[in-house]
Amino acid sequence: MQIRTVGVVGAGTMGNGIAQVLATHGLEVWLADVSETALTRGLEAIRNSLERLIRKGALPEDARDATLGRIHPTTVLAALAPCQLVVEAATENADIKQGIFKALDDVLPAEAILATNTSSISLTRIAAWSRRPERVIGMHFMNPVPVMQLVEVIRALQTDDATHAAVTGLAEALGKTPVTVRDGAGFVSNRVLMPMINEAAFVLYENLATAEDIDTVMKLGMNHPIGPLALADLIGLDTCLSIMDILYTEFRDSKYRACPLLVQMVQAGRLGRKSGQGFYRY
Ligand code: NAD
Repeated sequence: MQIRTVGVVGAGTMGNGIAQVLATHGLEVWLADVSETALTRGLEAIRNSLERLIRKGALPEDARDATLGRIHPTTVLAALAPCQLVVEAATENADIKQGIFKALDDVLPAEAILATNTSSISLTRIAAWSRRPERVIGMHFMNPVPVMQLVEVIRALQTDDATHAAVTGLAEALGKTPVTVRDGAGFVSNRVLMPMINEAAFVLYENLATAEDIDTVMKLGMNHPIGPLALADLIGLDTCLSIMDILYTEFRDSKYRACPLLVQMVQAGRLGRKSGQGFYRY
């Protein structure tokens, strides 16, 4: 299946990055969000990112207008009707995602694939929300999408081979490296990463070291390119908290208990880079 038309639901941190990469590679993209403001911000983020890449010589001069011309913003999910595949990248909340999957089932042709960028929610559970469970799959892009090489592909129990082949083929066509994993909350990436970020938040909460020093230990001592607290700010603390809560609920294991400091920071609206303050100020 040659995919030419793709919908992206959610124009936030991940959605706008996914739309940019798809459109840069010549696909027609419908970018949907419930919020006009989020759409405007998302398109602005894409424009800025393209201009940065052009300045660095990574894209030709005419790539900005050509890429933006292939992205069709909309606040109406029904506009995604021409799409062969939709990547859902809305807020990490099961009720919101279930609503979107139900609506997309009615809008899209029967053969269209429904992919989700969820960081942690079980793909088998998501597939069960759809009338086409065999064509539901996880397509987990990393942040920032234009830069990061990995796409973690998650097969639900119900996913068929044709859907898997179409999605891994698309990831490769986008210049990414797909790695296929079986379904389990947090998959591989966040099953390993989030407890580390959460533990770094506990270390800060217990006053063992400053945020800068915690990050320096992990950068210089473990050769990580970015410290866990700076990475949490990049991901969004609300997203990190949602993932910890999902791991905790799914595995019923106290080792996934979210750090109280992380909970408080989200309650205070300190969500990281996107709100101007998290473990650091921006
Ligand atoms: P975000 O908060 O930046 O953006 C979410 C967007 O979804 C918002 O613009 C919001 O208006 C929109 N939205 C909410 N309800 C909607 C609906 N019903 N229909 C359409 N749009 C709706 O979040 P994000 O960081 O981009 O995360 C999106 C998804 O990607 C989540 O599932 C998250 O777990 C996953 N993810 C995030 C990261 C990361 O580093 N931030 C990395 C990998 C995966």
